[in-house]
Order: sequence, then structure tokens, then C-alpha cells
Amino acid sequence: MDVPESYPTETEFSTVGMETDRVPSYKSSAASGAKAGISSTGSVHELLECPVCTNSMYPPIHQCPNGHTLCSSCKLRVHNHCPTCRQELGNIRCLALEKVAESLELPCRYQNLGCLEIHPYYSKLKHEQLCRFRPYNCPYAGSECLVTGDVPMLVAHLKTDHKVDMHDGCTFNHRYVKPNPNEVENATWMLTVFSCYGHYFCLHFEAFLLGMAPVYMAFLRFLGEDSEARHFSYSLEVGGNGRKLTWQGVPRSIRDSHRKVRDSYDGLIIHRNMALFFSGGDRHELKLRITGRIWKEQ
Ligand SMILES: [Zn+2]
Ligand SMILES: [Zn+2]
Ligand SMILES: [Zn+2]
Ligand SMILES: [Zn+2]
Repeated sequence: MDVPESYPTETEFSTVGMETDRVPSYKSSAASGAKAGISSTGSVHELLECPVCTNSMYPPIHQCPNGHTLCSSCKLRVHNHCPTCRQELGNIRCLALEKVAESLELPCRYQNLGCLEIHPYYSKLKHEQLCRFRPYNCPYAGSECLVTGDVPMLVAHLKTDHKVDMHDGCTFNHRYVKPNPNEVENATWMLTVFSCYGHYFCLHFEAFLLGMAPVYMAFLRFLGEDSEARHFSYSLEVGGNGRKLTWQGVPRSIRDSHRKVRDSYDGLIIHRNMALFFSGGDRHELKLRITGRIWKEQ
């Protein structure tokens, strides 16, 4: 096998933690006869662990003139002296170790969450950043919630920790009432979770400033992958006092952050003046009735 033309950059690796709990496996000898000679997988894995930071090393792997190895981010930190023997480091790459690493295949770190994929050492982290079994972030907006997990776990978390309303069914009819419509701060968020077609959907409603203009926005997110979200459509309708606005869209996966969806305006946007018309026009209270429907595309 040739050395891959481009390795992932270090910043891409930095989001992934230590891999020391993984015991490397080897390609079967049938698949890679030449690489089957290494006997002790544990010691090879130790060799690939940076002795300074204990993270897995990726090319370029460096060594000092005495052969002590270290990873490229540690090399930048140690001011050109080997942390082990204090010799000047120079710029020596450890190609042999890079080649050994290339022959390793490791299970995805989300194996315990259901991923059965095995990847070569160098592409494993790239896979893990996109693995569909990687945990989701909590979809609740407006808090710095750091909870991650799979969909059932997050649904339970939204219910118990964020006190989010849960509804069954594909149609909804929601009222948002705000006593003082002149207060449009960024801090107004509402979230309702709908369960239908065996999936969960988050209906977000919030007030924010679009440039200088206060607006309200409603949109739907799907608790799952984008590939599945695209099988659904939804409509939202807001009206009253003889006016009506409708929106039809595709739910966005919760892989896209709440903020990203909002900032792309992928939802029903109601300007405040319009919202006040819908509310009946006395301008003292905001009363919005939003009806909606979720359906599965054929
Ligand atoms: Zn290191
Ligand atoms: Zn050294
Ligand atoms: Zn995976
Ligand atoms: Zn949360």
C-alpha cells in the first residue's frame, strides 16, 4: 500500500480524544500477506502512542537522532529538544512507524453504539467525525447544554431536564402568547417535541432580531440523520385577523445546530408588525396561533 497522498490535518484530529483503549487488529493474512508478520498487537499500539502526550500519533511522526518518537503537535511544543534525551530534534521523520500504522485497522470508536465499521488507522478519525452512530448534541436551544446521546436518550433528557412539551401525532395547533410584544430579546425560545411516523421532531419557535428588525421564527428539526429527515416535509401556518402566512419545508437534522438552521432562515419568519396583525392589532399582546403538519414523502 502506498502512503496516502494527504493526511487529515491535526486540527481535524484534535476533536477526538485518546484512543489508548483500542487494541489494534490486523488485516487478515489473506488480505495482506506482507503485513502479517507483526505478532504483538498491544506493543505496536504502544509504539504508536506519543510518549509525551499519549495521544495516537499520525504522520508526520518525528524522532530524535537517538530514535525517540513524538507526535507532530508535541514536536512544536518542545522547542526542538527531545523530551526523552534532550538531544536537539532536527527534522527526522519516522517513516517505518508511519508504515506500520498504515497497516492497522481499528473498529470505530462508536462500536458500542452500533457501528460495525473497521477502518484503517489513518482514516478512522475521519470516519468517526461523520459516523452516523456518533452521539447527537442536545437539541435544546438557548442553553449551553452539553448533554449528548442517541435519540431515545435525548428525548428522555428533553422531557425531564428541559421540561419540554411532548406531543403525539403529525398535526399540531400551537399558541404562543407574550404579554409585551415590544420585548424581542434573543433569549426567547420555545421547543415542543412531536412524535410521529416512529420518529421525533422538534418544533422551535423563537424571537430574535434580524438585523434591526424584530422577528419571530418557527421551524422543525428532525431527531436523526439528514438522510432520513429528507423523507419528510412539513408545513406551518400562522394567521389571524384576516391575514395568513404559510411555510412548507423539509425538517433539518439535529446534526445541524439550532443556530445554523435559524441563521439560514430555513423556516417560517414572521415580522413583528405582521405578528401584531395576527394578534388582533391592539399591540399590547402577542397571540400567535401556529398550525402545522408533518408528512412523509413518497
Ligand atoms: Zn504528543
Ligand atoms: Zn531522544
Ligand atoms: Zn462508526
Ligand atoms: Zn439538554
